Amino acid sequence: MYTLGIDIGSTTSKCAVLRDGAEKLAASLALGGIGTKGPAEALDGVLKDAGLALEDMAAVAATGYGRTRCEQAGMQASELTCHALGAHAAFPQVRTVVDIGGQDAKVISLVGEGRMRNFMMNDKCAAGTGRFLDVMASVLQIPLDELGSRAVRAESAAAVSSTCTVFAESEVISLLAGGVDMDALAAGICASVAGRTAALVKRLGVVPAVCMSGGVARNDGVRAALEAELGEPILVSPDAQLFGAVGAAIYAYKKAT
Ligand code: ADP
Repeated sequence: MYTLGIDIGSTTSKCAVLRDGAEKLAASLALGGIGTKGPAEALDGVLKDAGLALEDMAAVAATGYGRTRCEQAGMQASELTCHALGAHAAFPQVRTVVDIGGQDAKVISLVGEGRMRNFMMNDKCAAGTGRFLDVMASVLQIPLDELGSRAVRAESAAAVSSTCTVFAESEVISLLAGGVDMDALAAGICASVAGRTAALVKRLGVVPAVCMSGGVARNDGVRAALEAELGEPILVSPDAQLFGAVGAAIYAYKKAT
């Protein structure tokens, strides 16, 4: 049986096709979230990769910010549920999932089988989300990938202390103008996101094993800074950004069987 998960985020769209709720046949990621061509591109891409048609799917579930506007999906599931299921499928031992996406950050604590026990969320403020990192990478005029790699190799981190993205942007511009090293700035920026996220994790309780999901899991600088803040190793899969889509496909399978 084939099921499809569609995760329509604020900045990207992701899809995954599973066989029997477990084996990943294909996955796709397209830039552009809700209200863009991203969802259609991700859907076309995953079906082409899998060599299947929408009609071959026993069930289709949508998740993410744009889940209510996905006409191909017969059901919707919350992002919390889907990231929990996707993370559990990748790392069955995980009890804490840190999901940092393009516009919010969530920490989910799990009991066995990928079921959610509790969660904490920051969806009020861009600081502590991928948006903060995207803004800062453009201030530094470097690609997103470089923000993490520079942060990891930095000898020290510049203090980026503003608690608001707009103020932090001015702060980083003046640090840059003052000649502060780019690597140290990248480290300070990643540390700022990690610090805010760590505060959420600590409020919920740091129960190992911990993993990251969402696009910011691709940023090694944030991951390393979060590990230092929590004093726990953090598991990261190359598929972390797809956990929501994979989780939605698992959810669809559970509903269909
Ligand atoms: P959403 O589901 O809200 O659209 P995602 O989970 O796809 O968000 O995460 C998007 C975030 O992932 C971006 O804001 C960006 O900070 C981060 N990101 C995406 N690609 C990369 C990359 N190659 N390197 C580092 N960070 C990345």
